[in-house]
Amino acid sequence: MGETATAQGLAEQLVRSRALIPTGAQGVYGHGEDFSFAIEGLSRAINRLFGRQAERMRFPPVTPRADLERIGYFRNFPHLLGTVHCFCGDERTHRDLVKTHDAGGDWTGAQAASDLVLTPASCYPVYPAMAARGVVPEQGYTVQVQSHCFRREPSTDLARMQSFQMHEFVRIGSPEQAWAFREEWTERGRDFFAALRLSAELEAANDPFFGRAAGVMGQGQRQQQLKYELKVAINDAAATTACMSFNAHLDHFGKALELRTPDGEAAHTACVGFGLERIALALFRWHGVDPAAWPSDVFDLLDG
Ligand code: ATP
Ligand code: ZN
Repeated sequence: MGETATAQGLAEQLVRSRALIPTGAQGVYGHGEDFSFAIEGLSRAINRLFGRQAERMRFPPVTPRADLERIGYFRNFPHLLGTVHCFCGDERTHRDLVKTHDAGGDWTGAQAASDLVLTPASCYPVYPAMAARGVVPEQGYTVQVQSHCFRREPSTDLARMQSFQMHEFVRIGSPEQAWAFREEWTERGRDFFAALRLSAELEAANDPFFGRAAGVMGQGQRQQQLKYELKVAINDAAATTACMSFNAHLDHFGKALELRTPDGEAAHTACVGFGLERIALALFRWHGVDPAAWPSDVFDLLDG
């Protein structure tokens, strides 16, 4: 087995081995050879192990703003949402902008919000796409999706990135179908981490709601057991980090997007998300900074 990275030294070691390429912005990294091996290997392994019964979809890392407005993302998580702003002035505005920049001023005042936002979770584009198909069939939908996600949470914590990739499985159907899917997946998730030889704990969780309502919203989510996370020690042996999430949304997306089942009711949805960078970090943390020296079954799983 390779040298196990110490908690504090993990970022430094991964930068030194060129696995991670710092960009200068907090939580925004390029991936070198070894990190790419881990991320791409995880994505392929997840697809190989679990992807067979799911319809595969891939979306770019931007989503129509109108869809997130319908879903109400900005109500609960305004602090996390990144909006795409663009210059849409005339030549005179442009001349002023360049002048302001050259004088050391803030040139971004001429930028206006576009019709796009940065995708905050891979599953968001799936619900509108399925709603556009009409009534959800009796057997429901199971979708597999992966994309780059953005959340405005700059941090010195290596595991809290602003840009990261989430591989998700999404279920859309009756309340029973959505709930059963979420339950089945907690077992599958545990097995996956065992196959990676990572010790993971399943814990009840809540989303990071904004502002004064956060306490009540988070408590409600926990009481109804709507969110679980599989947590692994990455930075600190004592504090664990969520590497995978299991979410029941009830009829939130069904109602917001008029996604209906054949009985005319709003569809229920559930999603499970693998945080690829965090799982990769856990592998480097526990198996060492050189993937070639990882336990051979773990290496083979990712190399397949
Ligand atoms: P939603 O119910 O809104 O669809 P979700 O399950 O898609 O939620 P989260 O549970 O917030 O989204 O995140 C899924 C996974 O993404 C987490 O378990 C984690 O591994 C990873 N993740 C979340 N935030 C970050 C971050 N800032 N940096 C790296 N990975 C992250
Ligand atoms: Zn999701």
